[in-house]
Parts: sequence; C-alpha cells; structure tokens
Amino acid sequence: MRTITLINGDGIGPEISESTLEIIEASGLKINWDIQTAGQKVAEEEGTPLPKRVIDSIKKNKVALKAPVTTPIGKGFRSVNVQLRKELDLYANIRPCKNIKGIETRFNDVDLIVVRENTEDLYAGIERKVDENTAESIKIITRGASERIVDYAFNLAVKQNRKTVWCVTKANICKLSDGLFLESARKIAQNYPDIEFKEILVDNLCMQLVQNPSKFDVLVLPNLYGDIVSDLTAGLIGGLGVAQGANIGKECAVFEPVHGSAPDIAGKGLANPAALIFSAVEMLKYIGETGYADKIDRAIRETIENKDSLTKDLGGTSTTREFTDAIIKRLR
Ligand code: ATP
Repeated sequence: MRTITLINGDGIGPEISESTLEIIEASGLKINWDIQTAGQKVAEEEGTPLPKRVIDSIKKNKVALKAPVTTPIGKGFRSVNVQLRKELDLYANIRPCKNIKGIETRFNDVDLIVVRENTEDLYAGIERKVDENTAESIKIITRGASERIVDYAFNLAVKQNRKTVWCVTKANICKLSDGLFLESARKIAQNYPDIEFKEILVDNLCMQLVQNPSKFDVLVLPNLYGDIVSDLTAGLIGGLGVAQGANIGKECAVFEPVHGSAPDIAGKGLANPAALIFSAVEMLKYIGETGYADKIDRAIRETIENKDSLTKDLGGTSTTREFTDAIIKRLR
C-alpha cells in the first residue's frame, strides 16, 4: 500500500481533509496516510509551525496532500508554505483553471493553466527597515530558476497538447529582474518550435483576463505575479472553493488548494472541500492511479452539476457533510 503524507492544516483544513479522505476511501483506493500536523497550534507546542518531522515525512514519501496551514502572525515565523516550497525545492506551482459545469460564471470557455515560479522573487524574504519611514524588500530573479520554470511550462504544454505559452512580466519597469526572466523564456522557447511563444505585461494580462479569458492557454510567471493572477483566474471559474493547485519539484510534490485556512468559517461545517478533492485527484494522477482519479473527478463534477448539494460559496445551502455524502453516493 502506498504511503502519502497528509498535512491536515488549520482553520477549515481538518474538515476538508476528513471529507477528502472519506471520498478517496469510498472510491476503493487504499492509501496509508502519514498524518503530519503543522501550523498555528504546532507552533505553540513545538516552537515552530513547520517541524523537521513534516519535511522528513514528505522527503521519505515523496508525495503529500496538504490542507491550508496558518502561519502565526507577528511571531517571527517564516510562512509555512514558502518554507515548505523552499526546503523541498518545489519550484513549479501549477494551477489549472477550467470551467466546471454547473458553476455559473461570467465566462464559460475558460481553460488555462497558471505556471508560477515558486522559489524566489519577493518571496526570498529579504526585507529590511532602512529607517523609521522607509522599508525595502529585495526581489531575486535568477537565470537558473527562470529557465527551469519556463521549461516546465513548455513541457506541460507539449504533454497536454496546448498551443501557446505566454510569458508574463513587468519587464518594462523591472528591466533587470523581469528582464532576465523574459530573456530566459525567449531562450527556452527556441527549444519548442511547435509551441507558440507570446509575451505580455502583467497589467495588460489582468485586463484581458477579465474581458476575454478564453484567449489564454499556458501562463508562466515569476512568483508574485503568479500568486495574484492565480487568485484572479480562480475567480473566473467560481472562486477559491474549487481552485486546485500543485507544487512540483524534482524529488517531491505537494498538492494543495489555492485557498487559505478561511478562519471566518472554520468549524461551522460550511467549507467547500472541492478544491482539496480536486488537488487530491491531480495527486492520484501524479502517482499513476489514473482510474481512481477519474472516478473521483467524475463523481465530484456530477455532484456540482446536479446542484442539489452545493455549499454556500457556490450559491447552495448544503454543509460540508452533505456535499461530501453526495459525492460518496456517486462513488458507490
Ligand atoms: P491566506 O492568507 O491563507 O490565503 P485568506 O484569508 O487571504 O488566507 P482564504 O482563507 O483563502 O484567504 O479565504 C478568503 C475568503 O474565501 C474567506 O472569506 C473564506 O471564507 C472564503 N473561502 C476560502 N476557502 C473556502 C472554501 N474552501 N470554502 C468556502 N469558502 C472559502
């Protein structure tokens, strides 16, 4: 039996993790979950929100499913998510964004993938107060990390029969840093003559995404723009409750929803587990369990399309439990 690390997280994390595990079990797939706690409560008990045991577990199992984790604010801890990505060198953050039947949105032909660089940019965490009225934050962009993420994006485009890779920067302003990212992208693009390469500034991209998202295909971006744009694209398909994500490295992969721990609705039974379930589906495909992945994917899409058990964020009145049960019913 395959062992996979599960980080069940904070806020709504435990509720949506429980729902996801039940659904995987109902599909008939047996997984040995190595459950690892991290986040706010762990910081109080163990002095750090991300103990070494969590990293060691993922290194050993190679794959993890992760619910949202809260980093305690103002205690000097580095973001758990940023640290995890850095320590495991999970350099590619993949956020597919495709309309889901049954969720009404402004557009019904969105089908794009955000490929976000995950290890550097302003997330390097190099900040300082220059004086009482001035602070500075350093943006790091390297040729190695830029070429590696753009190559990942082109590879993904080839594998998924996509036509175009858009390189998104603000190279007209950040001439050296974003300029280097763009220069790296232009170089890598030459290795993929069958995929069209396009360049766009991030502000222009945002405007066009809210006017005509269907024209976009694979987007590759430095870390910060990728973070912001992927929340925008999540909104295009129905919001954070359904937006899945994956962090992929050479050795390990961590699958997690785009949303945070949503403390405002934690413990109320209102959370939508769909984003974590979709992330788990991608994880199952990654480990080669395509049959189970497709089965769960079908059950969740049918449940959403049927609209009788939707959670509040999707316009329904159902609880996490009712939504989960509706999916499980379709798996039996
Ligand atoms: P973070 O900084 O960790 O990203 P955040 O507070 O900025 O956290 P989220 O925790 O993702 O962002 O929540 C943003 C809003 O979306 C909240 O009002 C929350 O209730 C809602 N939300 C997020 N995830 C879900 C979900 N799975 N189901 C229902 N509502 C959700």
